[in-house]
Amino acid sequence: MLIVDDSVVVRLMLTRALEPLGAQVRCPASLAEARELLGMTGHAPPAVDVVLLDQVMPEMDGVSFLREMRTHAHLQELSVIMVTAVQDEAQLEVAFAAGAMDYVTKPCPPATLRARTSSGARLTRALRASRERALELQSANAQLADLNAQLSSLSMTDALTGLANRRAFDRAYDYALAQHTRSGMSVALLMVDIDHFKRYNDALGHPAGDRCLQQVAAALRGCVRRSTDVVARYGGEEFAALLTDTDLPGAAAVGQRILRRLTEEHILHPEHPLGHVTVSIGVAALPDAQQHGLKDAADHALYRAKATGRNRTVMWRPGAD
Ligand code: GH3
Ligand code: MG
Ligand code: MG
Repeated sequence: MLIVDDSVVVRLMLTRALEPLGAQVRCPASLAEARELLGMTGHAPPAVDVVLLDQVMPEMDGVSFLREMRTHAHLQELSVIMVTAVQDEAQLEVAFAAGAMDYVTKPCPPATLRARTSSGARLTRALRASRERALELQSANAQLADLNAQLSSLSMTDALTGLANRRAFDRAYDYALAQHTRSGMSVALLMVDIDHFKRYNDALGHPAGDRCLQQVAAALRGCVRRSTDVVARYGGEEFAALLTDTDLPGAAAVGQRILRRLTEEHILHPEHPLGHVTVSIGVAALPDAQQHGLKDAADHALYRAKATGRNRTVMWRPGAD
């Protein structure tokens, strides 16, 4: 408890009256010292729960000092009780407006003073606790939002390759089809399947197979670069690339780029006739493949790429088979 009063006699009287509460009572001899004790000069503030503030002081009147206190963030919840000589309604109104929580008139019966001072201190502690709880809640909410964002990104990502997963692909696919229906924008799809991958696993083991999938995924990502493109692991050793605003020849060119890139990377495959990992690619685009369905058309083209020798890009064309 802090008593800010210029009169030594009043300070003594108030201190005596508060003694039975058993709380520590500080009586700064000047406003400068009061500022220090309240942490208004930048030093760490002591735990002050209530201030008894003299309304009339020679250095500065109580209300002005109170206003100065309230400019400090850490003093917002601190209860301030004005100590006045006379009960002047107009002055009290000004004091309450400046943030006083109560007032007592001098001389004040000790029991009354103790009761009002204690309740002021209780209020301060309750307000501080509630602010701390609000801050904790805020930080817990921020953490939760962070976790949610991580979770939603994880639920859209393939753990092995870091590409979009099947769920993310399906979403992007539905969205692209809706856009096509609305605006007629062309949409192309590449279905990419690793050639003779079972043999790769059988020869080098599953962990090596996993690393190969990561390398192929990175190569695909390197070849499909527009921010609106989606490269996904469609399942097992099959990938899909969805290219919006791209026609069939444009998509086929991307397919050729992927084949070239893998030839350059030359990922060793001991059981492949070419000695390195290759892929087969089926390409289809809207509006050409509208009747057939984009996915089915690309799948069909992929099947043709496998059947005609692998390591190639085949475009789906209406009436091709
Ligand atoms: P094709 O050229 O006709 O595509 O032959 P393929 O051997 O690649 O195709 P197949 O469908 O017969 O075999 C695919 C293999 O892919 C089987 C499976 O062992 C492997 N595979 C699928 N998913 C994974 C995976 O997550 N990790 C590893 N290491 N292998 C996988
Ligand atoms: Mg395969
Ligand atoms: Mg396959």
